[in-house]
Amino acid sequence: MTAVVSGTQQRSSELFQRAESRTARNYKPLPVVIEHAEGAWMTDVDGTRYLDLLAGYSALNFGHGHPGLLRTAHEQLDKLTLTSRAFVHDQFADFCSELGDLCGKDLVLPMNTGAEAVETAIKVMRKWGYEIKGVTPNEANIVVAGGNFHGRTTTIVGFSDDPDAHNGFGPFAPGFRLVPFGDLDAVSAAIDENTVGVLMEPIQGEGGVVLPPDGFLEGLRRLCTERNVLWAADEIQAGLGRTGKTFACDHEGVVPDLYVLGKALGGGIVPVSAVVADREILGVLRPGQHGSTFGGNPLACAVGLEVVRMLATNQHQERAAELGVMMRERLEALVGNGVVAVRTRGLWAGVDIDPAIGTGREICEALMARGVLAKDTHGSTIRLAPPLVIEADDLAWGLDQLAEVVHGASDQD
Ligand SMILES: *Cc1c(COP(=O)(O)O)cnc(C)c1O
Repeated sequence: MTAVVSGTQQRSSELFQRAESRTARNYKPLPVVIEHAEGAWMTDVDGTRYLDLLAGYSALNFGHGHPGLLRTAHEQLDKLTLTSRAFVHDQFADFCSELGDLCGKDLVLPMNTGAEAVETAIKVMRKWGYEIKGVTPNEANIVVAGGNFHGRTTTIVGFSDDPDAHNGFGPFAPGFRLVPFGDLDAVSAAIDENTVGVLMEPIQGEGGVVLPPDGFLEGLRRLCTERNVLWAADEIQAGLGRTGKTFACDHEGVVPDLYVLGKALGGGIVPVSAVVADREILGVLRPGQHGSTFGGNPLACAVGLEVVRMLATNQHQERAAELGVMMRERLEALVGNGVVAVRTRGLWAGVDIDPAIGTGREICEALMARGVLAKDTHGSTIRLAPPLVIEADDLAWGLDQLAEVVHGASDQD
């Protein structure tokens, strides 16, 4: 199976090749060159339309060109874009207080990318450990999960067990303990007197939408409280509506000590990330001890505030839950027919393709030829994360394309 880039796709083909020849090859994009987009639909430079079933890895939860978000961004662009945190701007108070309220926490520390928010959470947990818990100076450790994805900094890839992410980038920062994801006994065994926190995704997105066993998050919450360690939930991909609730942790009714947020917080317009926690935790940072030139800038706060207000209505969460039922039913019908297994939560799915019918990449290329854009992860899994604003009919059509691709491929064998 290969994608059809026909003669009518001439500009796409030329721009694609030029881009590939002048960029580091740290990605392997599908051979499509997008020019504009609206809602769940993207259009390439040759006028071909594609349904977006990736949504910028969940950064575009509210779709492309959301009118309210665009209006907010345009208005803010005309007024003020950057002050640095040396001065306070007029969007800052509302963003921090309303995001804090959405999370049920006292304080917000805004950053830009997800990886920066994760680094921030690591620094905060360590400092809390030394100053509040009283762990041995420079001996703090943090428990993390196998199959994790928390970003691409040298510290973060140091505790990744994905060889592509990890190998060749050492030496790495010490102080992380890897345990199997979803294994509460292993977390418990890894905690000692110098453990300051547990850093985990409530659902592993990049790992292939891997769900922990039922009760794991609740157990983790209880364990962290009992052992006096902080739980930082990396909700960068799972949070902000994707799973049918505001946070993936909400599915077990648990509240982590630190929420680590990003992706959709910037509305698909600007990078906006944040760590959100109570005063006794984020309060350990004093002036000069952490920062970011662009973190919490006026444009980011204006857009982020609009995102928070949209989430406060619960409308997008409900839509994700509703459409998620349809998506799950249709995907489960494919199991045994080119699909080995399906995991879903809300409008988020990991679809394990039967290796006998092709790789995840090949299935994505065949989908592209039918006007559907999705992304494989870890060889044989396709992650589906449509914009939450997708029309039900469009989603059904996109899933029909997947069904036909996997059926067609399994018939050939
Ligand atoms: C994407 C992601 C990150 C990293 O975010 P960037 O903005 O790419 O740095 C961290 N954690 C999780 C769970 C993610 O999905």
